[in-house]
Parts: sequence; structure tokens; C-alpha cells
Amino acid sequence: MAAFGTVFMPEMALATYQNDQWSDTQIVQSDSIQLHPGAHVLHYSSTCFEGLKAFRHADGSVKIFRMDENIKRMVQSSRLLNLPAIQPDQLAQMIKDIVKQYADEVPAPPGSMYIRPTHIGTEGAIGKAAAPTAASMLYVLLSPVGDYFTGGAKPLRLLLAEDGMRCAPHMGMIKSGGNYASALGPILQAKADVNADQILFCPGGDVQETGAANFVLIDGNEIITKKLDSTFLHGITRASLLTLAADLGMQVSERELSVTELLERAAKPGTEAALSGTAAVLTPVGTLIQHGKEYKVGSGEAGPTTMKLRQALNKIQWGESEDKHGWLTSL
Ligand SMILES: *Cc1c(COP(=O)(O)O)cnc(C)c1O
Repeated sequence: MAAFGTVFMPEMALATYQNDQWSDTQIVQSDSIQLHPGAHVLHYSSTCFEGLKAFRHADGSVKIFRMDENIKRMVQSSRLLNLPAIQPDQLAQMIKDIVKQYADEVPAPPGSMYIRPTHIGTEGAIGKAAAPTAASMLYVLLSPVGDYFTGGAKPLRLLLAEDGMRCAPHMGMIKSGGNYASALGPILQAKADVNADQILFCPGGDVQETGAANFVLIDGNEIITKKLDSTFLHGITRASLLTLAADLGMQVSERELSVTELLERAAKPGTEAALSGTAAVLTPVGTLIQHGKEYKVGSGEAGPTTMKLRQALNKIQWGESEDKHGWLTSL
């Protein structure tokens, strides 16, 4: 299987904004776009994106998971970045149109079609370091993906980073390229230094999230994760898993979690930790690393509650259990 996100469908849906209005949607080749070398995005990072998935059901239909939530978040990201306002109905139609066009290519579970809406500032204006772009481009790429979990992915190793942060705090809830650029150096350093898969950013000792996924701690019947604020990404997988955990009778605690409490709880047998995100779904965390010392989370292996929640989510996505919360969109 090719690496996640390296295979693309040959066409994408695209719309452009200029002279204060959006163009109609076009279906265009997905291997290139034309961009002015002075485009705002290339200099001042006016860019945001989304990641969501379409799933093939046993009856042959294709459903998109929580599309409306992803569109809402992209509208918000665009607003917070002072990009032109996205029209939610147009973006919804763009996503549905392009997925419909490639419906036959949507892999069966555990695979899926990963959908990557992208919004970039295109005005050629290098004098606009402190001014918004007047033009932009919105496109929706498709990439068929497998499940990197099959074959038993090893539980992750996370370095706890208490000094430094993933990105500037006022940017945390925006799904924007600059934030990943900001976190890349520290993540590569953590890989080189302690063979960590990811950094768990804990600014000032407050357990937040990793470079591209939210963090949850599971202790018995309780699932604990940081309460939403503007400093970190509001994962739609996170919200979905918390809803499912409540459905399963678990106690959902959205609150501050300190590094001290995390390490205390992780030391108890039976404790589980995991990362949540559209790509990760819910991926077990086996080891926490702090100041050169390694701490196993519970047994250090994938735990039963993690697997149960992961399966509950997958079953809805795959059409194997009832979509009680109305999370699936038909084409
Ligand atoms: C995308 C992302 C997540 C997960 O969000 P989902 O909506 O669950 O896919 C979490 N943290 C960061 C930094 C992200 O970029």
C-alpha cells in the first residue's frame, strides 16, 4: 500500500474568489494549479484545510462522515485567517460532486476515501504581509487510503513537552499549514533524541494535543481530555468519540489534565491513552517520555476500551450500526 496521502484521484473540484465573488465550481485536473509566485499563501501562509472521509457501505452506497462539521470548521478557519468567506453550501456541493464522480474508487472498509478541502490566498501581492488576500482558491482533493492500523500498529511513543508549544496559542483552533510548520522542528528533534512518534504538547504542564491529533486518557470508566479552548484543534473525531463514550455509559470529563496527574494515572494498570483524529481514528499510546525517562501507560499495549470506542466509531462509519446521531451524509 502506498504511503497515506500520496495517491490522488485525477480530478478535483475547484472554485476561485476574486472581485468580491466566488466563481462557479469547476472539475479540473488535480495534478497542478496555476499560481502567481507572489501569491499571498506562499509568503504569508494564508491557508487552511480540512480532512474528512467517505466510506463504502455493504449495500454499495457511499457516505461522508460529519461533512457539515468539517465545513463549519473550515468556514471558521477561513474567517480567523481573514481569507475570503467560504460559502458552506457551495463547499458541500463541491465535496459531494467530486466524491460522486469517484464513488467507484472509494475503498471498502477498513479503507476509505480521504477528502482534503484546501483554501489558499492567491493574490499576487507581496506587500500584503499585514493585509488580507483579495483573491483565493478553494479546491477539494481526493485520496484513497487504507487503514494504517491493520496489521497491528505498535502503540505510540509520545514525548511530553512542557516548555514550548505547538503553535501560537491564538492559532491553535485553526487547521492551518503554518501550525504544522511550527511544530515540525520540535517533532523531528523528538524523533532523533528519544525515538518518539510524536510530541504531546503540554504548555506549562497542561496536557493539550499532539502535532496532528487530540489526546485522550482512559481510566476505568472515565475518559479525560482537555476542555475546548482556542489554543488547540477541536477534533471532530474527539467530539464523536466523547459522544459514543457517553452512549456507552462512560463518564466524560472535559477538563484540565496536568502532566503530574497524567503520569500518576498512567502508572496504574488498566489505564489507556490514545490519539484521536480522522486519519488516526483512535490510536493507542503505549509510552510517555519525560526528561529522558519512559513511563508505560497501563500495560503499554492497546487497551480494550480504546479498541471498543474505535470499533463503535468504525461501525457507524461503515454502516454496520445505526447512525443514531445523523453523522452520515449521502451523495
Ligand atoms: C486535524 C487535527 C486534529 C483532529 O481533528 P479531526 O477533526 O478529528 O480529524 C487534531 N489536532 C490537530 C492539530 C489537527 O490538525
